[in-house]
Amino acid sequence: MNQLRCHISRDQAYRAKRQALKKLEGSPEQQFTKLWDYAEELRRTNPGSTIILGGLAYKNALWKAARASTVGEFKLRMEEKQLNQDAFDWFNDPPTEWSKSHFNEFPKCDILLNNCCESFNGNIMDARDKPILTMLEWIREYLMRRLQENREKTSKKWKDTLCPKIKKLLQKNVDKIGDCIPIKANDRHYQISCYDGNQYSVDLEMRTCTCRIWQLSGIPCKHACSAIFNQNLQPEDMVHPYYNVDTYKQVYEHAILPISGQTLWSETGLVPPLPPNFGRGPGRPAGAKKGLMSQMLKQQRNHVKTYQVKEAKGEAPLQDMW
Ligand SMILES: [Zn+2]
Repeated sequence: MNQLRCHISRDQAYRAKRQALKKLEGSPEQQFTKLWDYAEELRRTNPGSTIILGGLAYKNALWKAARASTVGEFKLRMEEKQLNQDAFDWFNDPPTEWSKSHFNEFPKCDILLNNCCESFNGNIMDARDKPILTMLEWIREYLMRRLQENREKTSKKWKDTLCPKIKKLLQKNVDKIGDCIPIKANDRHYQISCYDGNQYSVDLEMRTCTCRIWQLSGIPCKHACSAIFNQNLQPEDMVHPYYNVDTYKQVYEHAILPISGQTLWSETGLVPPLPPNFGRGPGRPAGAKKGLMSQMLKQQRNHVKTYQVKEAKGEAPLQDMW
């Protein structure tokens, strides 16, 4: 810099470099906007090439297919993805486990991701490496406490007929009824026209809508809410009883009862089962690995800190950092 008789700070030099590169190469956002054009140019100049713009676009397309609640919408979403035939067949085989369009309507549950097991395993993490009786007692006490907390929650905080989370979900659907125009056919049937051009049929007596969201979730969809209000009814009364606070109370009414300590247990005299062999597995123990990793991270952090101090004093060339 001195040779060029230019007196600027290091930060100014980096900012100038970034701006120059942006002008030369374009920003990442700009480049993304050109991806389809680039693919088309490749196809034009190299006939017969297969170009797949995957990643996030495919992921989003797959989620749209998973969230589709009718078979017709599912087919539409699958065709949009332009998958090759093998992938198309594999996803279509049939998607009863991953797309709402093929879910059974009986359980009134349209959840795509079920984190119950992960959540439970995460909570019992502290107990999992303990000896068997200690572990079982830890889990039993945890469940005993949790069931009681759930019961107390319902009696102290929940004053409505519906459980709070379901009420929020229902409110979201009610907020969207402005998109729907209800046409009454008779006291139970409605035709609902939406501003997106779609049309659905609602049966208030059977509690169904042809979008299937009401049947799948047990909570009236926006089309159903529109018909319910038109009929001067309340959407809360049309939610499936599974989601009532009374049902929740019934589910949790059975308590896990306390037990006495080991000294008070009666002896059965039965032959105890043999414990499994506890041997050290091959390779480095997980604990040691973790120790090594944390030591390396600590060293790295110290190195960065030293560099920052040197840089502040103007003593550190860039290549010193790593
Ligand atoms: Zn609907």
